[in-house]
This record gives sequence, structure tokens and C-alpha cells, in this order.
Amino acid sequence: MERPSQRGAVRRRVLIVDDEMINREILGNMLKDIYDVEFAENGKQAYEILCEDKDRYSLMLLDLLMPVMDGRTLLEMVRQDSVFDKMPIIVMTQESEAEVESIKAGAADFISKPYKRPEIILARCERIIDLYEQKTIISETERDPLTGLYSREFFFEYVRRIEQYALDISWNAVVIDIEHFHLINEIYGRKEGNVVLRKIADVIESHLDDIFGMACRIDADTFYACLSDNIDTEQFAEDIIRETEGISLTSARIRLRVGIYNNVDRNEPPETWFDHAKIACNHLRGDYANQVAYYDSELHKKQVYHERLISDIDDSIKNRDFIVYYQPKYAIQHDTPQLKSAEALIRWDHPELGMISPGDFIPLFEKNGLIQKLDRYVWEEACRQIGRWKDKFGITIPVSVNVSRIDIYEPDLEDCLFKILDDNGIQSSDLMLEITESAYADNAARLIEVIDHLRSEGFLIEMDDFGSGYSSLNMVTTLPIDVLKMDMKFVRNMLNDDKSLKLVELVMDIAKFLKVPVVAEGVEEQQQLDILRDMGCEVIQGYYFSKPVTSEEFETFIEKELERQHEQEGGDLK
Ligand code: C2E
Ligand code: MG
Ligand code: MG
Repeated sequence: MERPSQRGAVRRRVLIVDDEMINREILGNMLKDIYDVEFAENGKQAYEILCEDKDRYSLMLLDLLMPVMDGRTLLEMVRQDSVFDKMPIIVMTQESEAEVESIKAGAADFISKPYKRPEIILARCERIIDLYEQKTIISETERDPLTGLYSREFFFEYVRRIEQYALDISWNAVVIDIEHFHLINEIYGRKEGNVVLRKIADVIESHLDDIFGMACRIDADTFYACLSDNIDTEQFAEDIIRETEGISLTSARIRLRVGIYNNVDRNEPPETWFDHAKIACNHLRGDYANQVAYYDSELHKKQVYHERLISDIDDSIKNRDFIVYYQPKYAIQHDTPQLKSAEALIRWDHPELGMISPGDFIPLFEKNGLIQKLDRYVWEEACRQIGRWKDKFGITIPVSVNVSRIDIYEPDLEDCLFKILDDNGIQSSDLMLEITESAYADNAARLIEVIDHLRSEGFLIEMDDFGSGYSSLNMVTTLPIDVLKMDMKFVRNMLNDDKSLKLVELVMDIAKFLKVPVVAEGVEEQQQLDILRDMGCEVIQGYYFSKPVTSEEFETFIEKELERQHEQEGGDLK
């Protein structure tokens, strides 16, 4: 195998320190083919040379008996100074007692005088340089340079080793995450971000001093700690949360999230223990009441369930297990409500798990990007249905579909929509797009650009869940929208809670100001409908008229609407 001392084009430098010229000559000749050799005549001179450039030498060969400053003194001075840690020292001795003494004082090896076989000396020099270079590489990659905690690789390596030897101990995995760390970097600068990271690492490490455990920084703002089972992890988490609250030098507020997986399953690899603790930690996102969560059997079940849903989505799309339901929207400003349009809402008729409602899989698929496939499936299905109804009843029922935030950033969004419209012979004004309010808060500039374009192509945009709390009033006035869909919770509470009623009024006022109609969702009772109508609300969607139903069941509403139009000799639905 290639030795580091020979590796590459760089020749290592060796400093030979000996007061006798003959010794310097002999050693120099032995080494000069492989190393660049330099000389010093006594300890003082050597020390001055070393201090000029601290990383210059890969090895020092040191005589012990010298005038001015002897080798023992130099050895002591150099070994006390950590800047010379990377440079090994081989001591050259005549007496065997001095050998032991030198090793104790920090020499890496010794060579006895008089020098005998050059190849032995050369081999010893190479071996020592080799060992030190490897040691340096390890100590540099072992620690995270910013915080001094272990790096990922070494952390897992040590956890694995300890876990194999300490069989009678069980372990707890802890994941510590800083909430909105990127904001600290953005607002207060990276320097402050680094200070925060270092301080958190210090707090974590100070707790490890008295217990059996180790920690690392896994990536930017996430720390892992592996603790033995005699530690109260809850106490550990609480202490760390409390002690880090006020550590910022600026006014940045530090809030930690801690995920704990107690008594890990040792049949699984350590990486998996921390994946589990991370799941618990991620579970705290958006939870403003709790900062500590546990990976337990319930979370485990949920995780298994989610994994099952993720692995089944493709087959279910292929087998058409996803079914699009339709919920009617009625215009209520006239005496008899008039069928206006429908919202397409997806259901999963899973072959083994039964009917699954969107609340169970939409947020999951939104997180991992799979929602895109599903949304496109729904858009296609809805457009096909608009075409079928048009053929069967001779009228167009506009359908609104839900558009997830990540759909909007797809460069082929428009092409995809137009292809679906073309395939089914329908117009952009027949397909309304519902975009949830929270999407607007994300990257407003980009969203506005896309929506402006979609509107110029004739699509109607409805802002879904309006009032759920993401957009500021200021933002709403600049957003391109055609319809406001009021968040359901206002309607749900409007009859028994004055504040909700006031908020309904407020949404109506905003809509009036923006000159857009309001759709009220979740209307279940006549009284709600009456109040909303009096306030000027134009369209209603809710159980009062119907739950979401299959496309076949929906046809009853179309037939009734046709009858109504016939009686009134009305025209098209639009
Ligand atoms: P959303 O878009 O706000 O849809 C309205 C939800 O309110 C539907 O729930 C509907 O069944 C329910 N709802 C309507 N009227 C009433 C009522 O009078 N009372 C009550 N209690 N509920 C009512 P659903 O179908 O469970 O859908 C939930 C959410 O899942 C939807 O909220 C939407 O955000 C999402 N979703 C559904 N289908 C899709 C889809 O195809 N793509 C995407 N991206 N999201 C979808
Ligand atoms: Mg919707
Ligand atoms: Mg809604």
C-alpha cells in the first residue's frame, strides 16, 4: 500500500536537530532521497525554526544532549504547545533509560545511537509520519469544526461501537431542532447564526459531562444526542430548552423542538433510531404549545400507515381507486337556489384499507410532492366529467379543482391544463382553480406572476380557506383573484359565536372592496344561509344542499336544475 509519506508530489520535510555535524550528515544522507531534510544545531535554534512556520515539518529527529538548549527541554516545550500536535518527534539516544523517559515526555519513538541499518531508520520515520498523518485526518473529520461536537460519520460510528460493547444498557435517541433557524441567519446574519449554534452545542455538551452519552451536529440546525437509559430524557430536553432560550446576543428568539425515542429497538441500526426521533420532532412543526414529542407506538402506527399510502399511490392511480366526488355550489340570491357549479373533491377507495378521506393523505402527499400526480389525475377526471355532462345534458357545469402550492411552481402547469382542456373539448372558463390562502403567503411574487398569466388565459381563480390566517389584509388587496371562498370555521361558529359572525361580515366587506363574489363553505343550516344571503353572499357550498357525492349521484342535481330552468324558461347555467 502507498504510504502517506510517499503519496503525491509533495515531499515531507524533516528537521534533524543534533549538535554533532557527523550525526547530521549520516542521518541526512539516509533520509534525503525521500524527504527534504533541514538541520538545527541545538534546541534553541530548532525552536526558532519551528516557530517560523508551525506546519512546516512532518517529523523532527531530536538529539537529547546538546549545548545551549538540550533535547529534553525542547521536547517538553514542543509537546506542551498544541500547535505542534501534528508533528511527531523521534528521539535519538545512547542510553536505554532515556528511551522510556522520552516516550513518557511525548516522543513518538526513539532511535538508538550509533545508527546501524539505514533501512530500519527510514522505515521507522515513515511509519511514524504515517501514523500521525492518519491521526490528524481522523481528528479533523471527527469533530464538527463549528461546534466541536462529533461529525455525523463519527457519531454513528461511535454509537455503533458502544452499542456493541455495552449490551446491558438500553439507549435513548434525542433529536434537537431549532425552529425557523433560517430566519435567524436571514435577519441577524450568519455570524449570529453561528454563535447560536455554538452556544446550543455548549449547552448540550455541558449536560453530557456527567452522563453516559454523546452528541453531534447532523446538519445546519439539527443536533442528535444518544443517551444511556439511566437518563431522564424529558428532564434533559426541558433543561436544554430552558437554558437555550436566552442565549442569543441579539433579540433573536431561540425556540427548540425536541423529538425523543426512548429505549430504542436495538435490532434496528442507529440511523433508524434517529429517523424515528426525527419523526417525533417534525411532528411538532406548527405546534405552538409543545416543544417535546415522543416517538411511540401511536406515531409508529401512523408512520407505517403513511408509508403504506405512499407505496400504494401509483398502483391506485393506475387502478383508478381514487374517485372524484362532486359537491354542488348554489347561487342563493334569488328565491330558488340555482345550481352554479361544483367542487371536485378526491376520495381514495383503497382496495384493502377502505375509503380514505383526503384529510388523511393530502397533507402527506403535499409534504413529499406526490400530490402533483394526484391533482393532475383529479383535473383530468373533472374535465372528462364536465365533457360527459355537457354531452348528456347539453349544459356546462363548471367545476372547481384544488390546486396545491407545489403545482404552481411547476413550469409545465399551463401546458398541462390546456392539454387536459383540449382533450375534453372544454374551455378554460369551465375549470375554476382553487388555491388555498396559505399558498399565497409562501412566495407571493412568483404566485402572482403565475396566477396573472392563468387569468389572462381565461381561468377563474378562487382563493380557498380565506381567513384561515395566512395573508395580511395588505396582501389581499394586491392579489389577483376572482372569488373568495370563506374559511369554513367562520360559518361553523357564526350562529353561536358573535366574533365569528363579525368575521363573516368582515370577509364580506373585504370581498365588496375587492369587487369579488364570496362562496361560503360549510353551510349546514337554513339560518346560516339566510344570514349569509342578507349579508350579500352569492354562492353557498355545504351539507345544507349536499355532501360531496359521486358523479352519478350528482346528476340528480343537474336534472333538478334543468327542471327549474325549464319552469322559469331560464338559459344556461353559466
Ligand atoms: P376544501 O378544498 O376547503 O374542501 C371543502 C371541504 O369541506 C371538503 O372536505 C368538503 O367535504 C367539506 N365540506 C363541505 N361542506 C361541508 C359542510 O357543510 N360541513 C362540513 N363539516 N364539511 C363540509 P374534504 O372533501 O374532506 O376535503 C378536505 C380538503 O382536502 C379540501 O378542503 C382540500 O383542501 C383537500 N382536497 C380535497 N380534494 C383535493 C384534491 O383533489 N387536491 C388537493 N390538492 N386537495 C384536495
Ligand atoms: Mg377547495
Ligand atoms: Mg375550502
